[in-house]
Amino acid sequence: MLKAIAKAVGISVEDVVKDYKKSGDLGTTVESLVSKKRQRTLGAEQLTVGKVFANLQAISEHSGSGSQDRKLDLIAELLSQATALEAKYIARTVLEQLRIGVAEGLVRDAVASAYNVSVDDVEGAWNLLPDFGEVAKVAKEDGEKGLKKFKLRLGTPFIVQLAEKSPGLKEAITSFKKVILEYKYDGMRTLIHKKGEKIWLFTRNLENITVAFPDLVQMARKQIKAEDCVLDGETIGLDKKTGKPVPFQQLSTRIKRKYDIEKAFGEIPIEVNLFDIVYLDGKNLMDLTFEERRKYLEKAVKETDKFHIAKGFVTSDLKEAETFYKEALKAGEEGVIVKDMEALYVPGRRVAGGWLKIKPVMESLDVVIVGGTWGTGKRAGTIGSLHLAIREPETGRFLECGMLGTGLKEKKSEQAGSATLKEMTKLLKPLVESEDGSLVRFKPKIVIEVAYEEIQKSPTYVSGYALRFPRFIRIRFDKGPDEADDLNRMEKLYKQQKGRGK
Ligand code: AMP
Repeated sequence: MLKAIAKAVGISVEDVVKDYKKSGDLGTTVESLVSKKRQRTLGAEQLTVGKVFANLQAISEHSGSGSQDRKLDLIAELLSQATALEAKYIARTVLEQLRIGVAEGLVRDAVASAYNVSVDDVEGAWNLLPDFGEVAKVAKEDGEKGLKKFKLRLGTPFIVQLAEKSPGLKEAITSFKKVILEYKYDGMRTLIHKKGEKIWLFTRNLENITVAFPDLVQMARKQIKAEDCVLDGETIGLDKKTGKPVPFQQLSTRIKRKYDIEKAFGEIPIEVNLFDIVYLDGKNLMDLTFEERRKYLEKAVKETDKFHIAKGFVTSDLKEAETFYKEALKAGEEGVIVKDMEALYVPGRRVAGGWLKIKPVMESLDVVIVGGTWGTGKRAGTIGSLHLAIREPETGRFLECGMLGTGLKEKKSEQAGSATLKEMTKLLKPLVESEDGSLVRFKPKIVIEVAYEEIQKSPTYVSGYALRFPRFIRIRFDKGPDEADDLNRMEKLYKQQKGRGK
């Protein structure tokens, strides 16, 4: 898209990138570049919906060698005929980032209301075939009757079941009549569709990753005994030397890789942990209980040490459950998932229950605010995000380790150190050291306590670490920046998590 914009507007790719870095949105970038660059040439052909549609369709049909260039030409042609506003939406359409403030829920409700069908039926159909184009067509033609007939399709991803957080092991195991505890592996959700010899792999985001994991495809072909089926599981990456799980971050480099796939799979071998089966030889198994599905799963695969059923343990005894949980952590896994043996498989983003996840809570860190960005639009004038830093004990410098999308509320909570967005902005304004566009650097004065999901290694932050999903807890008015946590503590916590480094 960068190249297509450069070509259409007649500037260098570097100049497009420069604008893109500022706007963060190629739609906005192309809009401003087109409007700066030219008035539409008089007599130029007006872009029609038909033309846009024809080019987009042609793009989808090109593949193989030379197809990149042809696709580029087709997009550039549209952009060069478009007005600034049209160009914005053409770019966003191609990138599937319309950003018109309409998310899936709204489309679902609109389909329900337009064709007088229930929201649940629309959602139910969409869960099995996440394509509102098809769902809307069926809703219009056959109403609820048609929607109820939606089936999982081999080779097409569906919306998977998700787990809920649980306050603790005790609460979790007493939530259901009969439970199984399973290792919670920290990897990539993997849906394996098999139809005879043909295998497809999908992630929970519906991404097709078949090409990136030839080793997994091979295992699936060899180890799955069932003719046609859909298995659900988690793939983890292993350390080549120790055989221990590697952080998800490392495995994720394999997902993104488009070239040298063979090389990558030698570097990060995988282990597949299967925990469910939702389809078998023409039958949808989602309406069976987990206990029944698990039996089918056991029959469907021939296990090996790298392709096997997730480690599980049926118990309602807290002591036994705790032992199993500790064993999972010691093995380098993330925690456990407690599952209701009597629950059906419920696809969907709306949590339906049945799976409760338990993992250790990470100790919070006291970090220093060293920078941020100003908010835009309605939030202009207040701080939009905060750059967090950790102290380097030897030098006393503050090294960045993460970004916090403030999460600050309009109203204060009861907790000491709680602050509203306005108050935080007021505290930070006198500390401004320099500004560059919306970016701002602050004198390192304010210490805040943050919670987070995980500490990751990071080449982008100078500290070498990044906090994943940091959340604001409170301002530590009682601490000066010299008393903030230091790199040594961060390193220690990094090593402790999930038994890494043990
Ligand atoms: P979270 O991503 O923290 O919400 O946890 C849910 C995710 O844990 C699922 O989407 C799976 O990718 C993963 N997972 C790992 N092990 C299991 C397991 N035994 N059963 C279900 N999900 C698992």
